[in-house]
Amino acid sequence: MSKKAVFVLSGPSGTGKSTIIRRLLEMPDLNIKFSISATSRPPRGEEKDGREYHFLSPEEFDRRIAEGDFVEWEEVYSGTKYGTLRSEVDKMLEAGHNVIMDVDVKGAFNVKDAYGDDCLLMFILPPDMETLEQRLRARNTDSEESLRKRIERARYEIDFAPDFDRRVVNNDLDEAVANVAAIIRGFLVCYE
Ligand code: ADP
Ligand code: 5GP
Repeated sequence: MSKKAVFVLSGPSGTGKSTIIRRLLEMPDLNIKFSISATSRPPRGEEKDGREYHFLSPEEFDRRIAEGDFVEWEEVYSGTKYGTLRSEVDKMLEAGHNVIMDVDVKGAFNVKDAYGDDCLLMFILPPDMETLEQRLRARNTDSEESLRKRIERARYEIDFAPDFDRRVVNNDLDEAVANVAAIIRGFLVCYE
């Protein structure tokens, strides 16, 4: 069986990562599955346990850290942890699928350390900060406090964009999806 790849999408909250990933999962030629992260935050909006995230209590999250279950984990927002479960990624690679994940910038570099040349880091940029704020507000899933934290963190995250393997601006959604898919296809050529 040929080797499989791990694709990481990072970028500020609200920049469109989940929307882009949903579209990529519908492209059979990419043979990609989404690595569902664990988080200690409660579900937001229509989110369901085991679909967007594995929602763990803070105590359960800490127990899984102690047991070494994470490839990487970060306290992305004060008091809220997010992490990539090793079992989640490995089960998909072993089943012969490529894997895509949505992690913060530090998590992205830790995933690269774990998967090396089998991993490609992509950064999704918003067209500008005003559009980012509009999208977060239009998504209508965050409190004013949560919005403020996300916008504050966006500036910090964008500073890391130059360190990623590829950058894609999500202005027009179809165009951004096409660009990300083309980057993935280009990377996968090496695996055929
Ligand atoms: P992230 O996963 O990066 O936090 P989302 O995928 O949840 O971001 O997108 C945030 C909001 O912006 C959603 O309401 C989504 O429908 C919208 N959105 C995503 N991409 C675009 C785009 N290119 N143009 C307009 N709205 C977009
Ligand atoms: P949200 O609460 O908006 O779903 O996600 C907030 C942030 O957590 C996003 O920047 C997202 O990329 C990041 N994130 C989600 N899952 C993981 C993960 O498993 N590990 C790390 N390090 N960050 C994650």
